[in-house]
Amino acid sequence: MEKDLSKTPNPGIIGVRRELCLGCGVCAQACHRGAISFPWGWAEIDQSRCTSCGLCLQVCPQGAIVERVPVSSPALRAEIKELRGRAEDVIARIERLSGVG
Ligand code: SF4
Ligand code: SF4
Repeated sequence: MEKDLSKTPNPGIIGVRRELCLGCGVCAQACHRGAISFPWGWAEIDQSRCTSCGLCLQVCPQGAIVERVPVSSPALRAEIKELRGRAEDVIARIERLSGVG
């Protein structure tokens, strides 16, 4: 049986990548909650109306609508630790190459 996306909330928050949005309005036509408007020429999503159903995400020809899935605090800390380690490694290499370190 096909899933009724209009009644299936996703865990993430739906957002718009403004730099990709053409303001075509296709997403607003698909939205069953009237959650999408264009106050500045690009799509804006009213989070108080949005059910995160994902319909707008599927119809956008630009791939401008994305789902941002919140990560847990431990996962975020691990990510930051890894990024810090990589950044320190790059800095150390630059210092070695430049003779500063
Ligand atoms: S469908 Fe995509 S490109 Fe068109 S207005 Fe909506 S977000 Fe922008
Ligand atoms: S995910 Fe998109 S289509 Fe669904 S309610 Fe939110 S803004 Fe409307």
